[in-house]
Amino acid sequence: MYPYPDAEAALTDVLRLSRGMTYKNALAELPFGGGKSVLIGDPHSDKTRALFHGMGRAVDALGGRYKVAEDSGIAVPDVDTMGEVTPHVAGTTADGSSDPSPVTAWGVFHGMRAALRHRHGSDSFAGRRVAVQGVGAVGRKLCRHLAEAGAELVVADTNPEAAREAADALGAAVSEPDALLRADADILAPCAMGAVLNDATIPELRAGIVAGAANNQLEADRHAEMLSQRGVLYAPDYAVNAGGVINISHGGPGYDAQAALAHAARIHDTLLEIFQRAEREATTTAAAADRVAETRFTPRGRGPI
Ligand code: NAD
Repeated sequence: MYPYPDAEAALTDVLRLSRGMTYKNALAELPFGGGKSVLIGDPHSDKTRALFHGMGRAVDALGGRYKVAEDSGIAVPDVDTMGEVTPHVAGTTADGSSDPSPVTAWGVFHGMRAALRHRHGSDSFAGRRVAVQGVGAVGRKLCRHLAEAGAELVVADTNPEAAREAADALGAAVSEPDALLRADADILAPCAMGAVLNDATIPELRAGIVAGAANNQLEADRHAEMLSQRGVLYAPDYAVNAGGVINISHGGPGYDAQAALAHAARIHDTLLEIFQRAEREATTTAAAADRVAETRFTPRGRGPI
């Protein structure tokens, strides 16, 4: 939900977003195409029950070919309201899948394993230092998996309490938010916000691997090339953070958290395929991710990907 200036702007955005979902679903081994919807309106002032019932009925008219879920500007209670008029909703309070962060964190952890294996020949975290930017819903859970696997942690959060909690619970070192991207670490995990990989930050990176949950980590497409030239192995964000959409795909009355976690662990194999392809074709990992996704597209009706 966003206050687009006109229908044309909304249409342009929804087509861009749905194209992205097509690639994301393919890499997540989901037998779906890419669907996305947008609502024109201000999420702070234009939300009404009638609006979400109208949206729910529009989704219902598609007969299950499209499922609607939480996203930018839309909260879980809004999806719950849509769910009053259609069963084709995912990630609702009722089905227990409304918090995707455990599955996202698990997927990022396995993506990091693939990066370590590709770069160092072993996926062991023992003696490896991981810098985590943002210890919110995903970052905190990721830190727990990393600590259990024997990694050394350095964390930063603009909320000092969140950083201190991680330090106390997991023995992590705390860095100033501004300094974290330059931390002396094997892996940098952006888990806060987008556009952190840019002209200013890339020359200063000391980690040889970037793998984290944040969406749109590259400020511009060309920054994938810049990372590659600096010898940094970049786990494309939309591949490594696919646990969120994987979780949604398992949502519904029979939600099985263990099945969602097992599915997210397969992100390891997908990332290995991306890294190997990038090396073979002398291209960036971002470009290789798109090519891997395209090999998985299957015409409708030809069975699972
Ligand atoms: P969150 O809001 O729970 O956590 C983000 C944390 O980052 C907060 O603690 C915040 O204080 C901190 N932060 C903000 N700016 C910072 C900065 N400059 N330096 C250090 N810390 C900073 O969000 P989340 O659910 O953990 O998601 C994290 C990122 O991963 C987001 O970009 C989100 O879009 C993406 N993502 C999340 C999921 C999911 O399952 N939640 C799935 C896919 C992608």
